[in-house]
Order: sequence, then structure tokens, then C-alpha cells
Amino acid sequence: MIFRRHRAFPYALMMAALAAFAGFCAPVANAASFDACITGLRKTALSQGIDATTFDKALKGIEPDPDVIKSFEYQPEFRTPIWDYVAGLVDDERVADGREQMARWDAVLGNAEREYGVDRHVIVAVWGVESNFGRIQGTRDLVRSLTTLVCANKRESFFRGELMATLRILQSGDIAADGLTGSWAGAFGQTQFMPTTYQRLAVDFDGDGKRDVVNSVPDALGSTANYLARAGWVAGEPWGYEVRIPENYAGPSGRRTRQSLAKWAALGVRRIEPVQSGGKPQPADTTQAGLLLPAGPQGPAFLVFRNFDAIYSYNAAESYALSIAHLSDRLQGAPGFSTPWPTDDPGLSRADRREVQQRLIDRGYDIGTVDGMIGAKSRGAISDFQSAQGLKADGRAGLRVLKALREAPVTAPTVPAVTQ
Ligand code: CA
Repeated sequence: MIFRRHRAFPYALMMAALAAFAGFCAPVANAASFDACITGLRKTALSQGIDATTFDKALKGIEPDPDVIKSFEYQPEFRTPIWDYVAGLVDDERVADGREQMARWDAVLGNAEREYGVDRHVIVAVWGVESNFGRIQGTRDLVRSLTTLVCANKRESFFRGELMATLRILQSGDIAADGLTGSWAGAFGQTQFMPTTYQRLAVDFDGDGKRDVVNSVPDALGSTANYLARAGWVAGEPWGYEVRIPENYAGPSGRRTRQSLAKWAALGVRRIEPVQSGGKPQPADTTQAGLLLPAGPQGPAFLVFRNFDAIYSYNAAESYALSIAHLSDRLQGAPGFSTPWPTDDPGLSRADRREVQQRLIDRGYDIGTVDGMIGAKSRGAISDFQSAQGLKADGRAGLRVLKALREAPVTAPTVPAVTQ
């Protein structure tokens, strides 16, 4: 996935795994210890009811994946500003795609709403952000990635559990082996479940007897609804809404600092969106809410309810939960946030990012394919262009650099040109 978020599995465990991993010196276990590790895994698998045929077939000739280790060890150089994060996930293109998908899967979404009580717009928002509506599910072999993670760090049991869950999927025949590809950390399918999450919460929603969150859109949507319902979704309640806070507000804030709507009102926190018939319901004054200030008191502010936490549990990052929540509003026709982000260099949509990439290519930079994903090559080219323009060379794809690319005359690049 674009933002390498860790899908639907316990973030704390992931952090514990990272900490444990830091103490492990060898970059990848050598061949002998890798083989020994697999022998140990086979024993574990058989003791847990996975049959020998399934195990041997799945792990036949398997080798560690060095890219998985690299991804595991990767530490981003800088934090992505929230306005970049939201701009890339919630753009006009995703809203349009989402509406199209909502029309196409209307009956399935209606069933999911009835069965689980979860708002269809949120289900579709998760689907759109997790895999771009099934288009990007990840291409790494799940068994190989997880085996690499287990065997490069034998002290870690987290990934062993995920590997065993993957083998159980293979044994059940719910999803064919060639469908079990995903992110380096093991998330897979249309809504990027981890294998143990799949085992607990995936449902067969198209009634063919298989829980196939890779190839069946109904199974993926039903499973996501089930996930959110089990995470505490409250039917009929909004995730939250944008608010205006008093100037120089210095009162309580944070998702976990809950108090009643009446108390927030007493502090001068006001809902921005007018209450309309058919719009979001207005919860009772006694409803507990937290005040979210993702970019500090100068940026957009939100009161968030229990359903925001349900979304948050899917991927433990407030920026993620806010993006899903906002996309769900946009799918219902709501405009963007009323208060702008506190920056003079806003983030870019995927269409704008593609334009940045195309304009860099036009200037002779080799940045790979135009895909709207700003990776290391694009960042390097942006930095180079920024330097040449006398701009701060931070490699960030924001509005300022897009404007500069549109306006600056095309000259010879300072990096080797793409060979024709
Ligand atoms: Ca099914």
C-alpha cells in the first residue's frame, strides 16, 4: 500500500516486534539457520493441526526475501505532514471512483448495513483507501514474507502466528495460493486484513461457501463491516464532525480526552456543518466526544465519537482514521474541510502528483513510471529541481513545487537524462 500503514493488526505488537528486531544483528539468517527455522516451523504447524502436505507445498524451495527485511528496518526520514497524507488519500478521483463503486455494489452494501449496522460510506472509504477499490492489493507472496520475518528474528512470535493463520487459509481452500499476496508485513486482500484478523473476522458474504476477501468484493465488504461492528461501531451515530474552536483555544484536546457535548459547547466548541434533515444526526448533549486537533489549534478541528475509534482500530493512526472519516463524508456529497490546514504549501491530490512526475520526466529526470506515488526517485528529482530553483530542497511534492514546475522554463536537468 501507498503509505505502508500496517493494516488491521495490533500496532503495539508491531512496535514490540520492531524493538526486538533491532537487537538482531544478522541482516538475514544464513541458509543453514533458515532451513533449521523452517524445520522448527513445520513442527509447530503440525502440532497446530496444519497438515504436512499443506505446509510442504507452501514452503517448498522458499528463500528469505531481502526486500521484506529492508522494509521492516526502514525508518522514514521525515514525518509526512497530515495535509499531504489526507490530500493523497481523499481526492476527487477517489470520491468519483467511490461513488461509482457504491452504485455498482448498492445491494451488497445495503445487506452489509442491515446485517452489521455499519454506514456504507465508511465501508467503501476503507476499501478505497486500503486497496484503491481492489486495484492494489500487494504482490508479495504472503508465506515467503512471513517466513522471512519469523526466521530472521526467531524470538518474535507475532509473525509466526500470522504465518500459521496463512497456512490455515491455504488448508481451508478459501483462497487459492496465488491469491495470497500482499504487503511485506502480511496484509492482504481488498481491505488488507492480516491473516489472523481474517481468521477471526472474515465472512462469506456472497454465499459461495468461501471467505474470499481477495477475489470477492461482497466478501471483502461484508468482512470490513463485520470488523467495524466488532470494533464497537454504533449504528446511526456519526464518526464526528468538524467544529470551530474559540480563538487562542488552550483547553483539553485529544481523542482519548472525552467529555460530553454539553461540556464542549460550554467551552465554545461549535459544530460547523449545519444540521439538516437527511444530514448527519445531532447526537444527544450527553454523548461523549474527544476534540481532535490534527495540526494544532490553528488547523481544522473535530469532535469525534465512538465510531471514530472503531475506524482507528482498523489502522492505529489518527491521520488514517480522519482520512477514512472524511472520505465517507465526501462520498455523501460533503465538501472539503471548512478550516484550511495551517500551511502555505498544501498537499497534492494523486492527479497533481502525477502531473509533478510527468513534468519531472519532461525535464529529463528518470523517476520511473507516472503513478502518483512519490517514492525515492521522485523525491530525489524534486530536491534537485528545488535546488535549481532556489527553493528549499526537501523533496516534498507540494503545491509550491507543482507551481514552480508549471512556470519555470524547461532546461537541461542536472541529473542524467532518461536514455531513449
Ligand atoms: Ca464467498
